[in-house]
Amino acid sequence: MAQLDKAAKIKNFSGDFIAQIKKPDRDIRVSIPVKMDDGSLKIFEGYRVEHNNALGPYKGGIRYHADTEINEVKALAFWMTLKCAVAGIPMGGGKGGITVDPKQLSKGELERLSRGWVSKLSDILGPHKDVPAPDVNTTPEIMSWMVDEFEKISGDKTGATFTGKPLEKGGSQGRGEATGLGGFYVFNSLRKQLGLPEKCTVVIQGFGNVGGNAAHIFTKHGHKVIAVSDSRSAILNKDGLDLKKVEAHKKSTGGLKDFPGAQNITNEKLLELPCDLLVPAAFENVITDRNADKIKAKAILELANGPVTEEADDILFKRGIPIVPDILANSGGVTVSCFEWEQNLKNEHWTEEEVLNKLLPMMNDAAQSIFKKARENKTYLRMGAFILALERIQAKM
Ligand code: GLU
Repeated sequence: MAQLDKAAKIKNFSGDFIAQIKKPDRDIRVSIPVKMDDGSLKIFEGYRVEHNNALGPYKGGIRYHADTEINEVKALAFWMTLKCAVAGIPMGGGKGGITVDPKQLSKGELERLSRGWVSKLSDILGPHKDVPAPDVNTTPEIMSWMVDEFEKISGDKTGATFTGKPLEKGGSQGRGEATGLGGFYVFNSLRKQLGLPEKCTVVIQGFGNVGGNAAHIFTKHGHKVIAVSDSRSAILNKDGLDLKKVEAHKKSTGGLKDFPGAQNITNEKLLELPCDLLVPAAFENVITDRNADKIKAKAILELANGPVTEEADDILFKRGIPIVPDILANSGGVTVSCFEWEQNLKNEHWTEEEVLNKLLPMMNDAAQSIFKKARENKTYLRMGAFILALERIQAKM
C-alpha cells in the first residue's frame, strides 16, 4: 500500500480510484477438513483473494506454506492485478493459499487437501471468473488434481480454470520455465540501461522452479552463476557453479549444503555477495532496511514477489542500485499461464517455439514501456511499472 501511495502521488491518480484499488473485491477464508492417513480428521485453513477483474478474470497462484495467511495472500493478489496489467494480458488479479507445510503430508493427504480447496471454492472459480495456478510449493500435479475436482463439480471440460497443468492434462509448452525465462528476457532487454556488462556474475536466492530454471537459463547464455540457495543453506563458487552437479547433489542429499564444488555460506551472506546481478527468487521481505546498505550487487532482478521492502527500496535507490521490479521481472509465468488458458479455450496446442516467440516480444515491450514510464516521470522502475499498470486499469474501470 505504501508503494501504491507513492505511485499515486507521482502521477496524481484520483483518490477514488486509489481507494478502490486498495481493497480486494473479496477475500474468502475456508475451512478444509481432510481425512489424514491415520484416520484422524484435520481442519486446514484456505484462502482465495479476488483483488480486481477490470482487465479480465481474476488470475493468480495458490501458495502452500506454514506461514501463509490472509494478509500475505491479499498483498500477493494486489501485485497480481498490477502484474497482469504490466504484462498486457487480459487478466485481473487474485491469489490463493493454504496454511500448511506440504512436506509434512503424505501424497494422499496432499491430494485430498488440494481437492478440498477446490470443492470449498468451486462456486467462484471458472474460466471466465477466476483462474488459479501454481505458486510456492504447488506443482503441475496439484493443478491436475484441482482441475479434475473442478470438472467433477462443475462439468466444465475446457480445463481452462487452472493453469500450470501437466502437458498431458492440457498444460502449455514452456510454462515450467516461463517465469525464469521471462525474467531473463526482461534482463536482456534492460541490461545496457541498467549499466550491466555483457557477461554477468549472478547470485540467485532460491533453487526451486523459478530460481533453478533461472540459474540454467543465465548459464546457458554465458553468464556465471556463482551462488544459489535453498530454504536451508547456500553455496558459493566464485568461478561458477556446475549446476548439473549441484542438482545431483541436492537430489541425493536432500539439500545444497556441503556440495563438494563450493563453499557453504549463509542465506544472509548470499544476499550481500559482490556480483553484477542479484536475483531473489524465493520469498517476500528478504532485502530490508537491515541489509539494504550491505548489498553489493550492481542491480537486482526480482523473480520472487515482494522480496524488497519499501524502506529497502529507498535505500537502494539512493545508493544507485537499480531494481527490476517483481511485477515486471516475474510476469513471464502468468503470461504463459494466459497462453495456456487461451489454448484450452480454443482447444489448440502450441509448440514450444510458438509459445516462446509470443513471450519474447511481450516481455521486451513491457520492459521498455516501463523504462520509458520511469524516465518520463523521473522515478525508478518499480514506480514506472506501478504507473503503467494503474493507468491501464483505471482506463478500463
Ligand atoms: N504464481 C505465479 C505468480 O506469482 C504465477 C501466477 C499464474 O500463472 O497465474 O506470478
